[in-house]
Amino acid sequence: RGSWNMPSNDMLEDILTEVSPLLGQGKVANYIPALAKVSANKLGIAVCTVDGELSYAGDALEPFSIQSISKVFSLTLAMNRVGDALWARVGKEPSGQSFNSLSQLEYEHGIPRNPFINAGALVVNDILQSRLSAPKQQSLALVRQLSGNKCIMADKWVARSEYEHPHSARNAAMAYLMKSFGNFNNEVDQVLQSYYMQCAFMMSCVDLAKAFVFLANRGRPLFGAKPLLSPKQTKRLNALLATSGLYDAAGDFAYRVGMPGKSGVGGGIIAIIPGELSVCVWSPALNEAGNSLVGTAMLEKFTTKLGRSIF
Ligand code: GLN
Repeated sequence: RGSWNMPSNDMLEDILTEVSPLLGQGKVANYIPALAKVSANKLGIAVCTVDGELSYAGDALEPFSIQSISKVFSLTLAMNRVGDALWARVGKEPSGQSFNSLSQLEYEHGIPRNPFINAGALVVNDILQSRLSAPKQQSLALVRQLSGNKCIMADKWVARSEYEHPHSARNAAMAYLMKSFGNFNNEVDQVLQSYYMQCAFMMSCVDLAKAFVFLANRGRPLFGAKPLLSPKQTKRLNALLATSGLYDAAGDFAYRVGMPGKSGVGGGIIAIIPGELSVCVWSPALNEAGNSLVGTAMLEKFTTKLGRSIF
């Protein structure tokens, strides 16, 4: 493995201690009412290597709402089913705007800039709605298989509270605008509900670190012999995560952390060192860009202590 050792539980504990003075900064997402009830003091980190070695610290075993981290699972399913045809309907460029921005869609003729902003994820879910017989059940089956945890469930209360909040109209507006450009085929409401259900999957840092080993291991999941993506598709997915996974803060994240990653407004962030490991952090309070504030600091310390980055 070259010059690095498996991060020890002690190293992860040290990271938690070092970032704890930052707790209190940032804000827990409140536009999804059920998320606003989560304690801002939760703090967890888990690492899983491509050999399946696991280390973790803090609240790493406590399930939380994965939110936009689910966009990586749905994109994986779509890449797996549709291949390159996908890129006719969604772009590969960073958006330079917030995750729920609507404005670019108008002058880009209904083609979202990338699959990780909400508009892009909605197109990906529209594709899954057309291609899969039961998208909600099949995505749940995928996360259970990837993490080796059959108990993973969607929190229906979180999904419903997002669906019923006026903020949901913004996601619906994106979908209808894309429909007007011919880039959305299914019923908007049906796709929205399926998307919210996937955002509401409850997974722990340990579940997520295990689930994302396939991105560090040329498409091969931790459990099961069959690759989910080819090495080339995996490389491409990691490239998209590096350029767009943290939305408008992708540059800052690359600069400070140096790994492809994906955040969610539940406060989780997953990140990958290709060929080596996947890591997941959780701290619910978010920065201005909608990414976990302390989570980003944990990952910055992680790559600094490990002496590794993709750059
Ligand atoms: N469900 C959230 C939304 O659609 C996901 C956003 C996120 O995690 N960045 O707004």
